[in-house]
Amino acid sequence: MKDCQDKLLVYACSGCSSAAQTANNIALKMDREDVAEMSCIAGVGGDVKPLVKTATSGRPIIAIDGCPLHCAKHCLARHDVSPEWHVDLSTYAIKKQKGVDPDPEEVDRTYTLLIREMPKQMND
Ligand code: SF4
Repeated sequence: MKDCQDKLLVYACSGCSSAAQTANNIALKMDREDVAEMSCIAGVGGDVKPLVKTATSGRPIIAIDGCPLHCAKHCLARHDVSPEWHVDLSTYAIKKQKGVDPDPEEVDRTYTLLIREMPKQMND
């Protein structure tokens, strides 16, 4: 595990739709597999001090949004934070549906794609 000060942070929009929960599940998987530390985007959007402190710490960030409304990216922008890599799952053919759970196969497929792309994206 990397030093906590350098460890990659991951945020997901974590809303209610299938796409938002796909983003959330991918970020959770990154956290549980020790690829990145997930932090809470709601606290960033809500100006909750400890969570804003984490977001503005200068650690590298991946932000995963479920659709082109880009809620996670906008929450970070409130604090002048730009993620090193911003992912919009609509560009990975993830559909946004209300009242539908995320498809575990799509979560795994997209997770694998993102892990594969990550070194290039984070070095750009
Ligand atoms: S980015 Fe789209 S999917 Fe995610 S919380 Fe916002 S509206 Fe919902």
